[in-house]
Amino acid sequence: MRIDILTLFPDMCEAFLSESIIGRARAAGLVDIRCTNIRDYAGNKHNRVDDYPYGGGTGMVMQPGPIYDCYQAVRGDRDCHLIYLTPQGKTLTQERVKELAQMDDLVLLCGHYEGVDERVIEEIVDEELSIGDYVLTGGELPALVLADSISRMLPGVLANEDAFTEESHYGHLLEYPQYTRPPEWRDREVPEVLLSGDHGRVDRWRLEQAVERTLERRPDLLEAAEEAGELTTEEQDILRDRKS
Ligand code: SAM
Repeated sequence: MRIDILTLFPDMCEAFLSESIIGRARAAGLVDIRCTNIRDYAGNKHNRVDDYPYGGGTGMVMQPGPIYDCYQAVRGDRDCHLIYLTPQGKTLTQERVKELAQMDDLVLLCGHYEGVDERVIEEIVDEELSIGDYVLTGGELPALVLADSISRMLPGVLANEDAFTEESHYGHLLEYPQYTRPPEWRDREVPEVLLSGDHGRVDRWRLEQAVERTLERRPDLLEAAEEAGELTTEEQDILRDRKS
C-alpha cells in the first residue's frame, strides 16, 4: 500500500514515521509512506500558499491552487482515494480503518491555519475524516493517526495478527487488562489465572474481563453488538451469568 501525505510540514510527519513499528515497516517495504510539501507547488516567488479569507475574519486560508497542483503531481496517473483530515469530517472508527487498509493508494491532505479553500475540497477530495470532536492547529497529527492505524493492519507490520484482532475496537469489545513482570508490584499481584499456564482458563478469564470492562466503560458497544446479533454464544453466556 502507498500512502501520500500532503502537508506544509513534511519534517514533522517524517519524524514520527521514521520511528518504531511504522519506521521498521517502511524500511522493510511493507508500507510506502511519502510526505510531500505543498509549499513546493506554491507557484510564486515568495512560496506563499495561504491568504486572507474572503468576507473577513481571523486567520488565513490555504489556497486551492498549490493543493491541487501538489495532488496532481503526487497522483500522476494512479487512481487514488484522497482524504482531507478535518474536524468537520466523519469521526474515524476502527471499522473505517479496516476498510481503508484494503485500498492501494491513499492520499491524506493536511490543512493548517483556518483550513483550506472550499473549492479544492469540492474538486478533489473523496472523503473527509475527523479524529475527534476537538480542534488541532493542523492536519499532520490526524494524518499520522490515520497512517499509523492503517499501517498496523497491513500484513507483516505487527508480529502476528492476534496483536490487532484481539484489541479494543477491532470487534465489539474493549481489550482485557494486560500484565507483565514482576508478578508482584507495590503489593499488587498479577491475577493467579495468568500464571497458571492453563490456556483454556486464561482465554475464558480474558473474555470475561473484556465483557466486564466493555459493560463498565462502553456499554453502547455491547448494546449495538447485541442489536446487530453479533454477540457470540460465550459472550451471551457471560452476560447472562452476570445479570443472574
Ligand atoms: N476552521 C476549521 C473549522 O472550524 O472547522 C478548523 C481548522 S484547524 C485550526 C486547521 C486544520 O487542522 C484543519 O484544516 C484540519 O486539517 C486539521 N484538524 C484540526 N482538528 C482536526 C480534527 N479533529 N480532525 C482532523 N483534522 C483536524
